[in-house]
Amino acid sequence: MIVQCVSEDVAVLREQLCDLWSRKELEELRLRTASGFSRFRSPLAGLLMLLDGCPGVQKSRSTTLGQFLLTEFVRWRRGQARVSVKELKDEEEKRNLQLQALELITASQPGYMDLLLEIYELKNLEKNLLLEHVAFLQNSCCFREAALLGMKLGLQEELDMEQMCVPLILMDKLPLAEAYVQDHADLQERLIRLLDSWCSPDFNLEDVRRQFPSLSLSKHQTDQIQPKLLIRHVFRLMEKFSIDPGLCVNAVYKRKLDSLRFLMYKRFGEKNMTEENWRDHVQVTVEGSVDLQVVLVELLVKHSGLKAAAQWAKHYSVPRDRLPIGVWDTMETLSSSQLEINEVCSPLDLWVTPPSHQLQFYQLPLDQQRVHTVENSEQLQLCRDSVLQAGRVVGVDMEWRAGFGTVSTQRISLIQLAVKERVFLLDLCAPGLSHHSLTVNFIRALLTDTSVLKLGYGMSGDLRSLVATWPELKEEPLEFKGVLDLLHVHQQLQRCWRGRTGPRPVEVNEGPAEKGLSLLVQQVLGKPLDKTEQLSNWERRPLRTGQVRYAAIDAYCLVDVYLTLSADPKAFGLPDDLLSIKPSPSTKSDSDKKAKEKRKQTGRRGRQSGIGRTGDQDECVRGNGERHGASITPQELRVVCDNMLQGLGRYLRCVGVDVLMLENTDDHKVAAQIARNEGRIILTSGQPFQTLRSQVAEGRCLTLDCSEKARDQAVRVLKHFNVHLTPSDIFSRCQACNNDEYLKLPREDMTQMMNKRGLIQDTVHKQDDWEAQCDAQVDCNRSRAPGGPAFTPHCRWAPRSALDAHSFRFSGGAEVQLETVPPGLLPRIPEYFICTRCGKVFWEGSHFDRALAQFQDVLNISDDDTTARKH
Ligand SMILES: [Zn+2]
Repeated sequence: MIVQCVSEDVAVLREQLCDLWSRKELEELRLRTASGFSRFRSPLAGLLMLLDGCPGVQKSRSTTLGQFLLTEFVRWRRGQARVSVKELKDEEEKRNLQLQALELITASQPGYMDLLLEIYELKNLEKNLLLEHVAFLQNSCCFREAALLGMKLGLQEELDMEQMCVPLILMDKLPLAEAYVQDHADLQERLIRLLDSWCSPDFNLEDVRRQFPSLSLSKHQTDQIQPKLLIRHVFRLMEKFSIDPGLCVNAVYKRKLDSLRFLMYKRFGEKNMTEENWRDHVQVTVEGSVDLQVVLVELLVKHSGLKAAAQWAKHYSVPRDRLPIGVWDTMETLSSSQLEINEVCSPLDLWVTPPSHQLQFYQLPLDQQRVHTVENSEQLQLCRDSVLQAGRVVGVDMEWRAGFGTVSTQRISLIQLAVKERVFLLDLCAPGLSHHSLTVNFIRALLTDTSVLKLGYGMSGDLRSLVATWPELKEEPLEFKGVLDLLHVHQQLQRCWRGRTGPRPVEVNEGPAEKGLSLLVQQVLGKPLDKTEQLSNWERRPLRTGQVRYAAIDAYCLVDVYLTLSADPKAFGLPDDLLSIKPSPSTKSDSDKKAKEKRKQTGRRGRQSGIGRTGDQDECVRGNGERHGASITPQELRVVCDNMLQGLGRYLRCVGVDVLMLENTDDHKVAAQIARNEGRIILTSGQPFQTLRSQVAEGRCLTLDCSEKARDQAVRVLKHFNVHLTPSDIFSRCQACNNDEYLKLPREDMTQMMNKRGLIQDTVHKQDDWEAQCDAQVDCNRSRAPGGPAFTPHCRWAPRSALDAHSFRFSGGAEVQLETVPPGLLPRIPEYFICTRCGKVFWEGSHFDRALAQFQDVLNISDDDTTARKH
């Protein structure tokens, strides 16, 4: 029996299929679909007719009947050799089908796209026709669909990149733009240059928006177009696409300007950077840019005085007309020798340091002759022979130049290997060593040799930098074997250390508390490390004596600490076998490691963190590192967040912290004012911290690494303030508006309200809700016993009378956001929570479980911390 492709028959079949779909009778639907296809004289035409009238073509994330039919068609076709566009004899019929399919793509949802492209072999249509369709989508403001179609048809070279990508970027869909230019080197370069041009001071967003008048953008979307975020994207993409930084003048200039300001702050504000280090970094930063040299002179006038400004102006021959007032006159009055920037010779640049230094800091117990620089393959061989011996204990450390945010992954400049009687410094800036296969092989052999014990402190960051330095390590991944990370030993030691004086009393120094490796060295060997050279320019050659000494000590102290600990582990509360110590759960997470690495790159050494009294003495969370005493509840923590940290703000609200979010990044004065008036703590990131910290009391301003994920930032804040979380804190505050008052409504009321608003139509809640319902069922099975919610957040409850029975509004004016509640939820969720300030509706279910899962480890960590403190 052969059924003609007559529209009535198709309509009947479609109706049957729709009915089965809505009743979720998938097996029957599958059989009926396949038999339907078989009965069509032309299945390819029949499929299009079926799809054409399929309901549910609105853009939606859930699977629709149409997609189901397409998938089934592909499955069915596998057994039918002759059902393909290629097999069609009639050219006109073939072309008509293809055109129809193309129409359907432009008229329907992206979910159809892949399968239609495949089934109807649309790539073979003539290019002009395809381009026309992409243009049609663009003109209809379907920019996302246009980009997807252009991309899937491989038309990127033919299409205008700017016309395609600008709207995507404006719509906060940069990842799609990135995917669009993938595999097209020239387009990648143009995309980055486009973003870079938006970082220029002359850039005006309105000019760009005017080119796309029909594009309506939300505030969130336009907020994304701001220099800080754009610069970050430019740098990320430069690395991803291996683009020459020389092409991104605006972003590079801004980053360097930030670095320069940061250096000025370190040197003249915090005063914790030596003249030598400061000078090394400043020179690298302003090199080759007259504009930056002018800024340097201006900043010097402000922070240091006219003499220093005149010296640097002379050094760079800054044109007279660009000098700030007074600098030229100062240059005139000084003699040429007074204008010289003299080499500074600090007492610390001698091998033997002054007695005061020796009293205060751990010293290298080796002569200068025992520290060997390795610059060529002969020296490398000697090093290899000495280090690669069974039973050796080797301290491993690496140095790279602090990038101050200019590049995200730094290449290693120096690898230090220490054994009991000597230290080797592998100079990776030496041309004979840096990319020599012997060097890579040696490091691989060393790090995987089980007979040699390698010691490090927070080694995961080092591993990442190794991979950045030698990409070949990515192809054949490096597996650390025979490695002991003293960070884990230190964590174990800290647990016993709390609250006891121990056999080796700790000398308490003046000044900031020691952290990280320095703290370990102090606890085990009596004195901390001198960290003066921590931020130095490790790409400088020759290295200064102070740098060589610092580098050697950093690796040697690991050996010294290990030998002391293993001689008497019990004295330190450690097990006999130090190698049996496992990492503590809080430092296991990958994001932690990433964060640590990031910090090292920005000049704050990773090894300094990860250890401390509150679990994580974090340098990025600065301001007030020490927190003792009882924990606080999330409700007691009140903060104001800058708008770079919106994600963090939402996370904190989600667990009940009182969070005020700033609208505008630039107005830091407002943050300080709010903080003072309302007794809030400021959470900020990057540059503003320096300004803000001075405006509020000590410890009232924290800076966070904004390269970290919001969740990880939230964990840091919670740990820093010793916030004790319980599951009932989850959702105790509205994430959208910070309100902590809800109205609790039973299902019956909710159903009634939705009915009144026409949001429940018995016939329609089928396809799109189906998935939600399946999800809901899974949720139910997984987490809660039937019979009512277990969710009782710590919050205030509004009386029923707070909601107007007719307008569904609260007294503040907010209307219940009924349209956000999928009708399919009603049968299984008995209770709803409505924010009385913004009208957002919450319910126990996947939301809640997801949030609970996300903060699972914090819930554990804070419990852990509380018990640890009780000892
Ligand atoms: Zn709200």
